[in-house]
Amino acid sequence: MKCPFCKADNNRVIDSRASADGFAIRRRRECLGCERRYTTYERIEESPIRVVKKDGVREPFERRKILSGLMKACEKRAVSIDVMDDIVTRIEHQITEQFDREVPSKFIGRLVMRELRKVDQVAYVRFASVYRDFKDISEFVDEIQPMLRSPAGKASAGAKKTGAAAKGGAAKGAAAKGGARKKSRS
Ligand SMILES: [Zn+2]
Repeated sequence: MKCPFCKADNNRVIDSRASADGFAIRRRRECLGCERRYTTYERIEESPIRVVKKDGVREPFERRKILSGLMKACEKRAVSIDVMDDIVTRIEHQITEQFDREVPSKFIGRLVMRELRKVDQVAYVRFASVYRDFKDISEFVDEIQPMLRSPAGKASAGAKKTGAAAKGGAAKGAAAKGGARKKSRS
């Protein structure tokens, strides 16, 4: 690579590290002609992956489209833009890992739902209701049922614990009674 200052073609790499997002190598170089330093980036060539929609229409994959969908779902929710950005990055990785040139929009939708579910259940339900295009309320209930079941499971486990604690309390009460009896005897 030619030096941007003197156009000499000789340089040496003095530092090499991954960029912040991990998808580029940043190299600090020193020109052997003029000794000035400059930085180069090596990136993966952007693959022109396309999204295949339900009706068969293809459109270029755009990161910002997923992000704006997330933002809509997370409106007035406690989800930071950093978290949403991480979600998009994860989704992007999965797409490039599993698809070469074209990815069904359905696949992306499922990934978004899976991610949102972990982050914010209200946002998840919002996204699911738009994305799934539910025909009626029962379909919608079917979708959110597993989600409603899991916190209930936790609650019942908690109830068991409280039950045990109550028993312990009763035992203490008995001990106190015993103490009282001792006292009355003396
Ligand atoms: Zn130079």
